[in-house]
Amino acid sequence: MRILLTNDDGIHAPGFTVLEEIARELADDIWVVAPAEEQSGAGHSLTLTQPLRLRQLGEQRFSVTGTPTDAVMMGINLVMKDNPPDLLLSGVNRGANLAEDVTYSGTVSAAMEGALAGVPSIALSQTYPREAMGDEVPFAAARHWGRRVLEPLLKYDFPARTLINVNFPARTAEAVKGIRTVGQGMRDYGRLQIIENKDPRGYPYYWFGLGPMVGTAEHSTDLEAIADGYIAVSPLHLDMTHHGSLEALGQVFG
Ligand code: MN
Repeated sequence: MRILLTNDDGIHAPGFTVLEEIARELADDIWVVAPAEEQSGAGHSLTLTQPLRLRQLGEQRFSVTGTPTDAVMMGINLVMKDNPPDLLLSGVNRGANLAEDVTYSGTVSAAMEGALAGVPSIALSQTYPREAMGDEVPFAAARHWGRRVLEPLLKYDFPARTLINVNFPARTAEAVKGIRTVGQGMRDYGRLQIIENKDPRGYPYYWFGLGPMVGTAEHSTDLEAIADGYIAVSPLHLDMTHHGSLEALGQVFG
């Protein structure tokens, strides 16, 4: 089995080392094509206005000066053109990608890009207990449980244009209660904090921060599974049509 690894925290991120360790428990043929720098929050963005640089850092190991989507495109269509991956793994992200996070997430978007290309794709994220932990985020739950989550998924038949989103709870490996398959939740809006400060010349600048989770997790969602101490495994798809609205919308136009 040939696995393509990528992420959005950048090729040098601690969580990427964790992903490589997990992947090497599953297969020998590991390829790395990952962003050179952190791209958290890049979503599914694609670089069209500037050139990309591909740097070879080792055998089957490349960085791309672009977004996670750029890295996957370069990986599948250039680096691995003659030997396409059987599986794409993205992560392990430093921080949760739950609920509406998936629409901002570079980690999940890399898996979306893989799914569009027809490659079974899985995003992995490690929830952590508090903001401002820097690189101190404990990846113990992801490291210990990664193989146990991924191995059954190797036998799973991915429907077209779907991907799997995995989140590990902020707990020690021993304290993780198990694995739950759940749908995507939705938080109350308003988690964003806009921090204002002054630059050295006295001009204001702004930096987005994320406040703690607001609202109670809905039943059977990824938010609830994580809150209860379980690993959340969610099937996502790229057809964003809201089928329930089609008829009413049609009536608007007669
Ligand atoms: Mn990230």
